[in-house]
Amino acid sequence: MKLIFEKSVPGRGTIMLGKCDVEAVALPAELCRQEAPALPEISETDLSRHYTELCQKVHGVNCGFYPLGSCTMKYNPRIDEEIAALPGFTAVHPLAPKETVEGCYEALDTAKKYLCEVTGMDDMTFQPAAGAHGEFTGVLLIKQYHESRGESHRNKIIVPDSAHGTNPATAAMCGYEIVNIPSAPNGCVDLDALKAVLGNDTAGLMLTNPNTVGIFDENILEITRLVHEAGGQCYYDGANLNAVMGAVRPGDMGFDCIHMNLHKTFATPHGGGPGAGAVGCKGHLAKFLPSSALMDNDGRLQVRSFAGNFLVVIKALTYVMTLGAEGIREASANAVLNANYLMRKIQGTFEPAFDRICMHEFVLDLSEFKKRTGVSALDVAKSLIDHGMHPPTMYFPLIVHEALMLEPTETESRETLDWAAEIFRKLYALAETDPEYMHNAPHNAAIARPDEVRAARTPVLRYTK
Ligand SMILES: *Cc1c(COP(=O)(O)O)cnc(C)c1O
Repeated sequence: MKLIFEKSVPGRGTIMLGKCDVEAVALPAELCRQEAPALPEISETDLSRHYTELCQKVHGVNCGFYPLGSCTMKYNPRIDEEIAALPGFTAVHPLAPKETVEGCYEALDTAKKYLCEVTGMDDMTFQPAAGAHGEFTGVLLIKQYHESRGESHRNKIIVPDSAHGTNPATAAMCGYEIVNIPSAPNGCVDLDALKAVLGNDTAGLMLTNPNTVGIFDENILEITRLVHEAGGQCYYDGANLNAVMGAVRPGDMGFDCIHMNLHKTFATPHGGGPGAGAVGCKGHLAKFLPSSALMDNDGRLQVRSFAGNFLVVIKALTYVMTLGAEGIREASANAVLNANYLMRKIQGTFEPAFDRICMHEFVLDLSEFKKRTGVSALDVAKSLIDHGMHPPTMYFPLIVHEALMLEPTETESRETLDWAAEIFRKLYALAETDPEYMHNAPHNAAIARPDEVRAARTPVLRYTK
């Protein structure tokens, strides 16, 4: 497809400005351009077709099934967008005097109250713009806490190998030494391994729960007890909250601090747009939170300007208020049900890495399958594209080889799950009869097999003629 600049025809355009009814004023010369900007000139019809064609080239939740593990690509109710689009929320300025935007402050406070209730925390900030940004903020709280108690010698953060990759990255960004501990064969934290590394140099533990293999750690209370006993703090990566919201609360499990991905669990899509990694904490960490005051931050931590991505919080608030306590619990229960249903439907062909009840997502282990057929997890993922399904997360988590990680979410119907399972079964059979076809998939996509490393390392982001 042609770029919009290539469709440009000089003189064509859609400008429909009214006749100027005020006296023209000459701008100071130094503020004027020397030459006209290189903007595409295109008719409204062609403009509309251009963007419609573009949006048909991507696969979104609105186009079809999107089981991208750990990303919670669920359908986001339109009412959340509608409320967040109200002028009272969009036409405000962060520096507006408080008394003129009291409603916005009230909305933020209400969202904080509800999300503290969901997580079992005492206080919260909406400043961080993403999940990883929230982790960074949360671990800085822990760091400041230890420093305030004269315990800055605590320089190690423990990270289980089933953690999301951002956890060790965060700890390193905050200047900590990372202590990796292995999982037990059942996919949970190995308690003996944890005990062996705890000590008076332990600053804390970062736990992804449910973890990256979709398992809720059955020793969670013992884990937080042990870490606290050693003087450490417990950080909960709550990006997977879609599995447990309304059912259990990280605060009750003994965690001191948590981030949520509002842009996963609470009505904003993950990826591509603004997000919010809301960080909640227990009372003893609250005084280290980034200042919630928009103007006067009294020297406290600032991780982003003003109140963060305000409209993302409004969507989360609308979501929570429309669902209510019961609806929230039901959403996560259905997310778990759908994941288990799909896992069992696929089982017998592709096998789960852990044959046990999963939470909101599960991991398939294709290593045996690949040995037998030569068809890799990548080949299967690429083949799914031809069937109108977004590939699952691939080669993650690292503790499972040839991994495909599926998260169907609660907003998919039983019919869609049956359809998806059927396609997985079909591809399983196809690998035996025509592996070559799968090595070359996708056959119907605009791009088949880009050099993904080069695309990530040296992306071409500018149009050059
Ligand atoms: C998505 C995710 C993150 C990171 O969130 P971003 O907003 O992408 O930075 C962290 N931890 C887990 C478990 C996640 O699923």
